[in-house]
Amino acid sequence: MPHTVIESAPSLSPTSPAQAPLDVARLRQDFPILAREVHGKPLIYLDNAATSQTPQQVIDVFSDYYSRYNANIHRGLHTLADEATAAFEGTRHRVRAFLNAEDARQIIFTRGTTEAINLVAQSWGRKNLAPGDEVLISMLEHHSNIVPWQLLAAEIGFTIKVIPVEANGTLDLAAYRALLSERTKLVAVNHVSNAFGTVNPVQEMAALAHHQGAVILVDGAQAAPHQVVDVQAIDADFYAFSGHKVYGPTGVGVLYGKQALLEAMPPWQGGGEMINTVSFDVGTTFAAIPHKFEAGTPAIAEVIALGRALEWMESVGVSAIGAWEGQLLAHATQAAGRIDGLRILGTAPDKAAVLSFIVDGAHSQDIGLLIDQLGVAIRTGHHCAQPLLHHFGVDATCRASFAAYNTLEEVDRFIEALQRVINMVR
Ligand code: PMP
Repeated sequence: MPHTVIESAPSLSPTSPAQAPLDVARLRQDFPILAREVHGKPLIYLDNAATSQTPQQVIDVFSDYYSRYNANIHRGLHTLADEATAAFEGTRHRVRAFLNAEDARQIIFTRGTTEAINLVAQSWGRKNLAPGDEVLISMLEHHSNIVPWQLLAAEIGFTIKVIPVEANGTLDLAAYRALLSERTKLVAVNHVSNAFGTVNPVQEMAALAHHQGAVILVDGAQAAPHQVVDVQAIDADFYAFSGHKVYGPTGVGVLYGKQALLEAMPPWQGGGEMINTVSFDVGTTFAAIPHKFEAGTPAIAEVIALGRALEWMESVGVSAIGAWEGQLLAHATQAAGRIDGLRILGTAPDKAAVLSFIVDGAHSQDIGLLIDQLGVAIRTGHHCAQPLLHHFGVDATCRASFAAYNTLEEVDRFIEALQRVINMVR
């Protein structure tokens, strides 16, 4: 069977524009893990920027898929293969709508944001970057939007330049403008910083990049969970996000690309699924997008489950989720500000649901370990943003990050637990 992206979109429940406040008590019931205890205390899960928890509707996809229609996709002529293919391609349509992409063919499934960025580096970058060219990244980047460019720069010899940050964790836009030149071929920035929560003005940054003829890649790993993303409004050339941060499973993510760019890019990995014909005599021809970039059997159940996770988010309302998390963040910021010796890193006016902090006289690592004993899961360390933390003179912070299912009471209990832990270690 030739490769197809099924033309007719499966019926999607409409994205709710409703701004009604969340019924948090009700939606918490969708997450069985939230009922568990840790060290005899009710779990308070505040490590959502690393991985969000998964609703039962998404968990159910796995048993449903493996007990009813497990089959390899695209090539089969039997019923199970058809059902699996329809469900897999259904997610592609849902992701298209979720990002407001023009066409489902522009949605490529990857293992996550990291693989999506590596795909762009190895396919677009290898073809389009040359010695003397410049790639602009920012001080706020996650290692997965730094290292792929460093690896390629070491081979090709282009230059990486870094957009600096202000003291409050916002990007220095004047410096960005000054760094842009006719040598700039690519700007690669995150939409939201995982370490500080800063929301970057990617639409404005895209317009400036395009004005110089550069392409912009937006790492949306921390934006897709919290805000409505419109790749056309941003005018992003590439946009990436991960399933496990949007209430979906690990092992799956998305790369969106502009059609003309994707069509002009060479394949990245070779194998089954990505070819038209293979021959020893006349060479091999490649499938059209998106399949050209999807070599081998993909994570079928995970992709289907990602579709279910996005459906869950849309049924709750993406804007409503972001608004609620904003309340949680404001509450936590205020309460944390009253703790003696606590310093928040990242105080940008526009922030997503991330509270990063250090405490005088208390190691972040100790805080993380001890607060876990009280049932509170936060993250401590460099958050895969070592250059940023180094710039601020620290090698680790504590980070609490919020999701739709967190409550104001949980924030209060987290702050109480934090105060107890600080009293213990000081
Ligand atoms: N970029 C950002 C901003 C992130 O927060 C993360 C995950 N922490 C990544 C990229 C990498 O995502 P993944 O590990 O899912 O590939």
